[in-house]
Amino acid sequence: MTISDEHLTANYGRFPVEFARGLGTRLWDADGHEYLDFLAGLGVSNVGHCHPAVVAAIQEQAARLIHVGNLFYTAPMVALAERLARTSLGDGTKVFFTNSGAEAVEAALKCARKAKQGGDVVSLHRAFHGRTYGALSATPQEAKQAPFAPLVPGFRACEATAAAVRAAVDDRTAALILEPVQGESGVWPLDDAVLAAAREACDAHGAALIFDEVQCGLGRTGSLWHFEQSSVVPDLLTTAKGLGGGLPVGALIAGPEYAGVFAPGDHGSTFPGGPVIAAAAHAVLDVVTDPRLLARVRELGERLRAELAALPGVGEVRGAGLMTACDLTAGGAPELVRRALLEERLVLNATGPATVRLLPPLVISDAELDEALTRLRRLLSP
Ligand SMILES: *Cc1c(COP(=O)(O)O)cnc(C)c1O
Repeated sequence: MTISDEHLTANYGRFPVEFARGLGTRLWDADGHEYLDFLAGLGVSNVGHCHPAVVAAIQEQAARLIHVGNLFYTAPMVALAERLARTSLGDGTKVFFTNSGAEAVEAALKCARKAKQGGDVVSLHRAFHGRTYGALSATPQEAKQAPFAPLVPGFRACEATAAAVRAAVDDRTAALILEPVQGESGVWPLDDAVLAAAREACDAHGAALIFDEVQCGLGRTGSLWHFEQSSVVPDLLTTAKGLGGGLPVGALIAGPEYAGVFAPGDHGSTFPGGPVIAAAAHAVLDVVTDPRLLARVRELGERLRAELAALPGVGEVRGAGLMTACDLTAGGAPELVRRALLEERLVLNATGPATVRLLPPLVISDAELDEALTRLRRLLSP
């Protein structure tokens, strides 16, 4: 076993488990014990671990060309941009690749501010947009922001209600950024009325509406993009987590109104859109655009929430598709998650003292869903 914190920065609360192998919804530790993964690397491994098509795409592309940088074209990158643009914000959409979700958010903020020649950024209570300075400034959580003050100027937050959003956006607003389903704070799907109010307010004041779909996009909630289930189309869309099948990638997708904002020299990065990651993303998109898979995600999500609600000690259950959280009436979510991992070999996540989050791979079987519920029932039974 190689469980050691000697040379690792102490910024993560790691569990004492060393994973060595994965396949589909299963993980194996270094001693060969099998786990059921209902976290998927924080909503990354949507197509399951080591999906054979993703593995093959990576292996084949790695043997051909790994990196040339962004002064040149590669076929996987150009085709991936086309695919993301065509399936998202309509004619004239353009894609800027990044290495992560936070960087996609940074790009969105820079794009919106350049378009407005300055201006404020409004985000919502309970939001999470990442850890870099711009993204952190749009993440109104005292514990995450306070140690790193001063933050970027011109950011403020409002409640996630239609009235609050209308009041917060004015003529100086460059962007309103929101997660249509708030993930890190405990899975809070926003009402369609809030999204509609956000769209109206941004239109009225010439602000960019940014949907951060880093977690809720790419099939997680039962449609390729979550906004497809609402009445609203954003101006800017961020994606990341699930896009590379486990490899680091992100993208800012800019709709027609904002696609021309960045000019040569405005923004850039060394690695993004590299051919290996783009090849992996194509294999991922083949899986997560399948209408049968998306229908199954919606069905399984409904069943998961109904069965969670019937477990002892479970209060409110929230979610969309296979992005789900449940509150424990007696609290103790971090302890439950720890016991689930160590006693039941079920990988879960606690987003707070009373909230357990479940983000299984989208390819789970009915039997795996039943098995996870059986393990949870054992843990929750008095
Ligand atoms: C995870 C997440 C991010 C940050 O992504 P990183 O790849 O960790 O930088 C941003 N927004 C949302 C909604 C996320 O869930």
